[in-house]
Formats: sequence, structure tokens, C-alpha cells
Amino acid sequence: MRAEPDATLRHELQARGISRRDFMGFCSGVAALLGLPGSATAQIAQALETKAKPVLVWLEFQDCAGNSESFLRASKPTAADVILDLLSVDYHETIMAAAGHRAEAALAGAVRDHKGAYIVVVEGSIPTGADGAYCTIGGKSALQIAREVCRDALAVISVGTCAAFGGLPAASPNPTSALGVAEAVPGIRTLINLPACPVNAENLTAVIAYFITFGKWPATDGLNRPLFAYGKTIHDACTRRAHFDAGQYVEQFGDAGHRIGYCLYKVGCKGPVTYQNCPNIGWNENTNWPIGCGHPCIGCAEPYFWDRMSPFYAHLTGVPGFGAAADIDKIGLYATGAVAAAFTAHGLVQLGRRTYDRRKQAGATAPPDQTSGPPAESPSSSKAAPAKGDRP
Ligand code: SF4
Ligand code: SF4
Repeated sequence: MRAEPDATLRHELQARGISRRDFMGFCSGVAALLGLPGSATAQIAQALETKAKPVLVWLEFQDCAGNSESFLRASKPTAADVILDLLSVDYHETIMAAAGHRAEAALAGAVRDHKGAYIVVVEGSIPTGADGAYCTIGGKSALQIAREVCRDALAVISVGTCAAFGGLPAASPNPTSALGVAEAVPGIRTLINLPACPVNAENLTAVIAYFITFGKWPATDGLNRPLFAYGKTIHDACTRRAHFDAGQYVEQFGDAGHRIGYCLYKVGCKGPVTYQNCPNIGWNENTNWPIGCGHPCIGCAEPYFWDRMSPFYAHLTGVPGFGAAADIDKIGLYATGAVAAAFTAHGLVQLGRRTYDRRKQAGATAPPDQTSGPPAESPSSSKAAPAKGDRP
């Protein structure tokens, strides 16, 4: 995976049949995704073509490898694939050629030779029960490896909800005492959380491109999530939002409203309380996205979503933290009537958001709903994961 020392991005793109136009289109897309002006496109292109790629190690713990799948992708190579390939990935146990002691030596070498300068991507939660016996690699527990590798890193990027917040392994009753990286490894210099199940590779690419271009990390919210990707809810940009506001809902899967694209709130959509940019960037090179396919958002990017967002097909009044006021059955009545400006769907969602935000840990920043304009520099220190007390 390591790029040849004399391999330039331009040559690599040419070798893979990716035109200059496609590459510039990719850089333009990254600029747009990051919320930067169009003038940043040339800056990103120049940086990607000329600057040294950071050394990166990818740690995989208690997981399903879904984030690696998302990272690798299966479709034809794109400019994004090439850029990710040209990263100096010194260790990724799933895809590296080396195995056993040689693989472990590669990890130890990267940590030793690039102390304070390498990036760690963590996939999967970290089990802490039974002295870490639930996940061991090369005779070391996941917890031991994470602490050894992450503490000397330039930055740690937690990909997927398991690494960010514990994810499915941490769902009640959490038999392995699984934790996300922030809780398991306090003291990380810079922590970026990219939760989702799995991570959207576009967001990972954009974070790395931002760092290579500007030499700093994108601005984050109180849960270490980059604002460019997690600054707004699914609901804010949803293609079905007009139907929500008009009180037009799918009552059950397969009904007439479902077939013509009505809002999925009543069949369980958690888009109003889920922060991620799925409506804007889609999945599989923006082929489509879950709500676009007619399936409600299940809140996969949110902390403890297996516990907090289930049952997945019950609407939000069934979600702990959303009180009786959030009664969707009344929304259509008000939204379609000539009255009730004081209880619009938007106001209802704001009510839900405030309730939700109160549930976040003390010290979290304000709701990340102000993301227009270029991102500012990230706070350098990692913040704690959601407190256990947040859980239902
Ligand atoms: S409730 Fe879900 S489907 Fe309806 S507008 Fe919001 S995000 Fe879209
Ligand atoms: S729409 Fe919701 S459940 Fe689907 S990927 Fe996006 S955040 Fe996750």
C-alpha cells in the first residue's frame, strides 16, 4: 500500500485512467463537502499533488470490518480511491501483505520511527472487560494496543460508531464492557470522530484532504465530530422534508404515501435527531441513500443508537428523551391547518433537539447547527465521549 517514493499523484491518476478533469472535479467536490469556497479547489489540488502523505496505521478491534469495506470500496477506482491508496498506510491487518510477527513489527516500527507524526485510524470498539481478553492481537489486548499506539499519534480518527462511541458491542447489556476510543484512551492529542455504521469514506477522505491541505484538522463539535459532516441533522437537508412540513407521512411500508416518497417519520425515521451529511453526499458515490431508498434513518451515527434509537420502526415519541409533546400524530393536523404557527413542525424539531442536547454530557458545545462558511481550526484536545449517564 505504501506509495513509491517517486510516485506522484498525477502519474498515479494517469496510470489508473483518471483524467485531470476528474481529479479537479474530485478536489472541487472535497471543497464543497468541507464547506469551503470554490477558490479552495486549486489549493487542495496543489496540496494533494505535492505534499508528503502522512504515515497512517489502521487499528481494527471489536468490529465487523464494515468500515474497512467502506474505505476500500468495490467500484471502479476514483480519484478519492487513489488519494487514499497513496497514503502511507504502514499497518492495516486486514489488507496488508505481511502477517504475524512481521505485521506487528511494521506497527511497532511506524510508532517508533514516526512518533508524534503518524495518524491512527481506529475501527471497532475496545472491550475492557476481563482484562481485555475479549479481543487480543499478537498476545496484547485491544486496550493495551490502543493505549500504546494512540497516545503518541499526531491524531486519531475513530471511524464508525463502534470506535467513536462503542456502537453495537456496547449496546445494553454490553457483555464485553466495550468503549469508544475517547473513553478507553484518555489523553489523545487530537481525536476526530466519524461515527456511522459504517463510516462514509467521503468524510474520511475529506478530513485527510483538509489536513494535508491546511496542516490542521477541521473544526469539531462537542463529540469530536467534524462540523462539515455532522453540523446538521439528516432532517435539515432531507429530500422528503417538504412532506414532513406538509404533514404528509408514510403510515406503513408499501402504502400509497411510501410509493410516492412521503416522509418516513411515522415509520421510525430518526433523521430529526441524527447528525450526519447523508442527504448531501449519499452513499456508493452518491448512487442513493437510505431515506432515498424508502427506509427510515435509524440514527446510526448517534451515540448508543442501538439502545437509544430502537425500536427502529417506532416514531420518536418512543425514543427516551422525547416527551409527549413530540406527538407526530398532531403534526399533520397543525401543518395542514391555517393555525398553530406556534407549533410548527420546525418548532417541534427544535424542541426535540433541545431535549436531546440536554442529554449530552455537560461541557459539550452548543448544537452544531451553524456550519456555513469555512471550518475553523479544530480544538486540539480530545473531549470525553458521552457520559454513561446519557444512556437510557
Ligand atoms: S423525518 Fe426523516 S424522512 Fe421525514 S423529513 Fe425528516 S429525515 Fe426526512
Ligand atoms: S440515513 Fe441515518 S441510518 Fe442511514 S446512514 Fe445516514 S445516519 Fe445512518
